[in-house]
Amino acid sequence: MKGYAGQILRVNLTTGQSRTEPLSEDMARNFLGGRGFVAKILFDELDPSVEPFSEENIVVMAPGPLSGLFLPSSGKIHFGTKGPATGGYADSNMGGHMASELRYAGYDALIIEGKADKPCVVMIDDDRIQILNAEKYWGMKSFEAEKAIKDDYNDEFQVATIGPAGENLVKYACISHDFGRQAGRTGIGAVLGSKNVKAIAVRGSQDIPLQDVKGALKKGRQMFMSAFKKPGFKEWTPYGTAGVTDWVNEVGSFPTKNFYTGYFDDYKKINGQTMREAITITDKACFNCPIPCGKYAKASYKGEDIYVEGPEYETIALIGGNCMIDDINEVAYLNLVVDQLGIDSISGGNVVAFALECYEKGIITKEDVGREIKFGDTDSAAYLFELIAKREGIGDLLAEGVKIAAEKLGQDSAKFAIHVKGLEVSGYEPRYNPAMLLSFMTADVGAHHNRSWAITYDVASGRDNLEGKADKVIELQHIRPLFDALGLCRLPWVEIGFELELYGELFPLVTGIDYDWDDLIGISERIWHLTRSFNVKHIPGFGRDWDYPPARFYEEKMPSGPIEGKGVSWDDVEWLLDDYYKKRGWTEAGIPKKATLKKHGLDFVVHELALTE
Ligand code: SF4
Repeated sequence: MKGYAGQILRVNLTTGQSRTEPLSEDMARNFLGGRGFVAKILFDELDPSVEPFSEENIVVMAPGPLSGLFLPSSGKIHFGTKGPATGGYADSNMGGHMASELRYAGYDALIIEGKADKPCVVMIDDDRIQILNAEKYWGMKSFEAEKAIKDDYNDEFQVATIGPAGENLVKYACISHDFGRQAGRTGIGAVLGSKNVKAIAVRGSQDIPLQDVKGALKKGRQMFMSAFKKPGFKEWTPYGTAGVTDWVNEVGSFPTKNFYTGYFDDYKKINGQTMREAITITDKACFNCPIPCGKYAKASYKGEDIYVEGPEYETIALIGGNCMIDDINEVAYLNLVVDQLGIDSISGGNVVAFALECYEKGIITKEDVGREIKFGDTDSAAYLFELIAKREGIGDLLAEGVKIAAEKLGQDSAKFAIHVKGLEVSGYEPRYNPAMLLSFMTADVGAHHNRSWAITYDVASGRDNLEGKADKVIELQHIRPLFDALGLCRLPWVEIGFELELYGELFPLVTGIDYDWDDLIGISERIWHLTRSFNVKHIPGFGRDWDYPPARFYEEKMPSGPIEGKGVSWDDVEWLLDDYYKKRGWTEAGIPKKATLKKHGLDFVVHELALTE
């Protein structure tokens, strides 16, 4: 089998043993790699009784069959687990150089199981696997731990670490790598923390066997040349994702003041242009990426210089607008705070904004918090992030995420706890963007934009019109996660209009498997039904109720900005879900039907779930 190493590495932290297992051709053909392998392994290996922080949970890490090769932006790796934020399927994607390194070490996936009795580093040096004592790194912030491990062993190792938030089981703790890249979402950093894994270090020196080396090289060269010629290549790159800040405000959808409104008056003080002019010192790219969206910055806060990769759009939206921080230097400072603590900036920004609104409404008090806090105050946000990472005081409650915090605080705070399924919402206010709202409602991991970024379609197709929105969301839910299965970054396609067909033309040259782009999309659809089924299997009572958005999105019309007075209704929410389930081949309760699963080659799921309908 070409294009794959042909083996999966399994490391058991309880026994200290590791072994390799052959990768079957069926697995490669049916699930491709990356997200596909993560979903299949989690579905097969985890019993519903397994708790996210129990020893029996596993963490899977998988690059894709196109990772680490000569084509644009081929450096993405996928992490997955049973997640603490939702109790269901959880995954997160990470750039940098870990995907290529794990491929060069000779593995198509890594499975970490069990629990170490002391803090450890899982070190993979080709076929030499060690579980090393990491007590000296425990307690270190993310970048300091990464540097110390590189200094102590060898700078050639690619290192992924958790920060204090992961050690303390904050339910939205991230994994950090390459001093500024994160597997940010769904709390996988906390699951590593629960297993006493401070870091994973990988070094590899092997070739990736290809079906047609000359053909793949020629196609890769064509893909690079195509990227260089795109009009967006020069326009998008200086600002990266931060470049979208102005547009999101202009369409009234920039999360502001805990999603109270969709327009931030001071957005130009924190947008991509201001970032580039005021603080960016150089661009920073993942493996083989010609459109470096990473912006390395020198910013200053209270007279002190700070260096950080970012802020990218989501951080600008959730820590900037949503917490009403209107200074790019201060957003950059808070970016560094969350990165070093190992907190996902999307969930973290949501949680702090939720706490600030609770404080404004008197639901939590100065006595609860330990000081006064307010929107727009950088010190308030930094203070809360520190408490959360240590689970100290009110931070212990906030470390649970907004869903559980609201359940405990009561007083109608659930109405403005901005999440779906327990995962906080990404940086697009969806209440007058029905396709984006449906994307958040139906994303398998909870409210994450990377499954379907449909807001541009909302604006282009009419925001009062619900017809056709489900079709677009479904189309995007197949395309975008396919990049995660192939081990690639989707941004060349999203941002500069890179041709999707070229990936389909490259795939058989790498693997010898005769699939074109449409075949690959079919597999992505299979994976989508599988991750939904994981949630059915693992979350008691899972179904329609779990797809509902917070009440703020259908009870409150937009109070200000370009779409003032607009919004969706509860009936719209129900209509969107009905339409989506029907088109997906799911029941009205949101459960995949037996016939749908069989059509997509998921007979084993029908059997596992004992479906009759
Ligand atoms: Fe990494 Fe950004 Fe390039 Fe994607 S576009 S590979 S995230 S640098």
